[in-house]
Amino acid sequence: LREKLKDSAKGESGIRHVHVIGAGTMGGDIAAWCAARGLRVTLADLDHEVIARAIGRAAEFYDKKLHSSIERRDALDRLIPDFEGIGVAKADLVIEAVVEKTDVKRKVFEGIAPKMKEGAILATNTSSIPLEVLREGLAFPDRLVGLHFFNPVAKMELVEVVAHDQASQATLDKVHGFCGAIDRLPAAVKSAPGFLVNRALTAYLTEAFVMVDEGTPKETIDRAAEDFGMPMGPIELADRVGLDIGLEVVRMLKDKLDDPIPEIPAWLEEKVKNGETGRKAGKGLYAYD
Ligand code: NAD
Repeated sequence: LREKLKDSAKGESGIRHVHVIGAGTMGGDIAAWCAARGLRVTLADLDHEVIARAIGRAAEFYDKKLHSSIERRDALDRLIPDFEGIGVAKADLVIEAVVEKTDVKRKVFEGIAPKMKEGAILATNTSSIPLEVLREGLAFPDRLVGLHFFNPVAKMELVEVVAHDQASQATLDKVHGFCGAIDRLPAAVKSAPGFLVNRALTAYLTEAFVMVDEGTPKETIDRAAEDFGMPMGPIELADRVGLDIGLEVVRMLKDKLDDPIPEIPAWLEEKVKNGETGRKAGKGLYAYD
């Protein structure tokens, strides 16, 4: 399968400049990864501090993973903080990675679509919102695609390339080529609820939440999953994903899967309301230094 996915990513993408909107957990790390792989990247966010933090995180990552000081300097030179959002007009590919809310994403699309270069591709990193919903009102649905990276971006090779019935083959081919150019494995999936991976993952995480409510200590659940061979347990994973993002995904998928997801626990809503959104906030289900 790996070889098959690799083969599907061999084409030329023509993508040299990527503009990423949303510099949080995912956008910041997607931008850092693309710059490390030789692309010019502009990184935008409403919150300028988030951009600065993402660049800091990238510098640490390059220090650890890139071999020479020249490579590190070049990667950092290619990763450009874009406080005014002007990179959108020059980019061959725009990747949207703002919060998992339909209205916010649609507003972002409205703002950037008229500024994008002719022929440029718009990709969304949404985890759960159907492309058919996001494309409404977009003048060029043929150039909209889902590009669903996983967390942490540098470790997770798989990227879901999400198609919808108005996406053009040329767009899909270019995006597959882009995945190859940045050493990721593109899995072609349809715009179904949860796409492919989150369909299984959301059921797994919510079952773990039910066990917490039934009284099983969260450490026991994580330990059991790790002993089973998972790289981390479901509770730790939920904190890493971000409880706010997880909550939106669960809300979106709640009644759409074959086996409906159990009730959303009240404590999850409460934690998100209090800003205890997981690793990025220093506190979620666990506390972090
Ligand atoms: P996050 O909360 O870490 O970051 C979102 C960023 O978007 C914030 O920095 C916020 O300031 C910014 N933002 C909000 N509105 C904006 C606007 N109008 N213009 C510009 N920036 C804006 O979220 P995240 O975890 O990085 O998730 C981003 C997207 O990626 C979501 O669609 C999510 O579903 C998806 N995703 C998340 C994960 C994960 O593990 N966290 C994995 C795969 C996909």
